Amino acid sequence: MPFSYERAKEALLDERAKLLEQLQEMRPAKLEDIGHSNHMADDGTEAFEQTVGVAVHRKVGAALQEVERALAKFEDGTYGICESCGARIDRARLEILPSALYCLDCQSRHEQGVRQVSSR
Ligand SMILES: [Zn+2]
Repeated sequence: MPFSYERAKEALLDERAKLLEQLQEMRPAKLEDIGHSNHMADDGTEAFEQTVGVAVHRKVGAALQEVERALAKFEDGTYGICESCGARIDRARLEILPSALYCLDCQSRHEQGVRQVSSR
């Protein structure tokens, strides 16, 4: 099936549903349940797990924001256009990452500028 913006939008809506589900599963109460399920864990491990939980929660929240932003672009008619340089984002890139806000060039420049973090 060829790539189309309709499919990208569907993928984004799917992604959004999944992320919202993940966020709901990650309520603080749930994090405590994870700690209690392992009685071998000492306080340090539990604290560590909670820190990881918070980090994941933030990451999912950030991903959700990106997806929402990409979806909003369908309304504006600016979907698939790089936010930084205004160039059309490569379709192959959008197919892999429908929530992409920047073209590959700008994305890599952006990532290098911010920090060397390997996302995913
Ligand atoms: Zn760009």
